[in-house]
Amino acid sequence: MNELHDASPYQSATTAEQFAAHLAAVRARIAAACARAGRDSNSVRLLPVSKTVTAERIRLAVAGGCTELGENKVQEALEKSIALADLPLRWVIIGHLQRNKAKFVARFASEFQALDSLELAAILQQKLQDENRTLRVLVQVNTSGEASKFGLEPATVASFIRELPAFPRLEVRGLMTLAILDGNEARVRRCFQRLRELREQLRIQIRAEGLIGIGMDELSMGMSGDFEIAIEEGATIVRVGQAIFGPRALPDSHYWPEPAAH
Ligand SMILES: *Cc1c(COP(=O)(O)O)cnc(C)c1O
Repeated sequence: MNELHDASPYQSATTAEQFAAHLAAVRARIAAACARAGRDSNSVRLLPVSKTVTAERIRLAVAGGCTELGENKVQEALEKSIALADLPLRWVIIGHLQRNKAKFVARFASEFQALDSLELAAILQQKLQDENRTLRVLVQVNTSGEASKFGLEPATVASFIRELPAFPRLEVRGLMTLAILDGNEARVRRCFQRLRELREQLRIQIRAEGLIGIGMDELSMGMSGDFEIAIEEGATIVRVGQAIFGPRALPDSHYWPEPAAH
């Protein structure tokens, strides 16, 4: 991890012009991947991920063209949303959520991409009711088989989504995953394929069982290091941090705490 980080291919951006250039470069790579896959480039949404980036630098990124931001820690996202309340931004929580933080998500987030328990769904439903809000939601799936990853086992998702119509404040729209981080392209691709295959099964189930209000159009998969593979495998949302904001100070393991830290 550290070796990879030391040789980071990512450039830091510190002006609005640099952010605009990084966004344009990522968009061009998205368009090229879409062309290779015979897809319309409008079918992929670029979600910039601003974890560890200060509110001041986010301001420049917004001037450069960012309109929504993904964050993996609620507390950090909440503080930034307050500091940047004058900007018309959409906040998307993409990391594991502890139950005691659900009230914050209900208050300011537009979307939550890491739903992984019914207990959390019930708490979010209650807090969203209190706030008179709704929340777009993706179900996080562990497609890599790594014990250190959050997300539901693929085999358990069918019974999970069957329960979600009970939480009408959650607008379920699809699935999210993190691929294996070992850099082996075939294994990374397999994770993305697994998520797409699961979505097809769930679509059939949703129709067959008449599950009300549960959508399965979105596949949030792919990050700076693997988003082109994800697009080739059907991603509709790519979550890109370092290719826009530059390298992070610490290796990924620091930002993805082990599930034992629940
Ligand atoms: C940090 C993060 C990303 C973005 O990773 P980059 O390497 O910065 O592109 C995507 N998804 C999740 C869940 C993250 O925590």
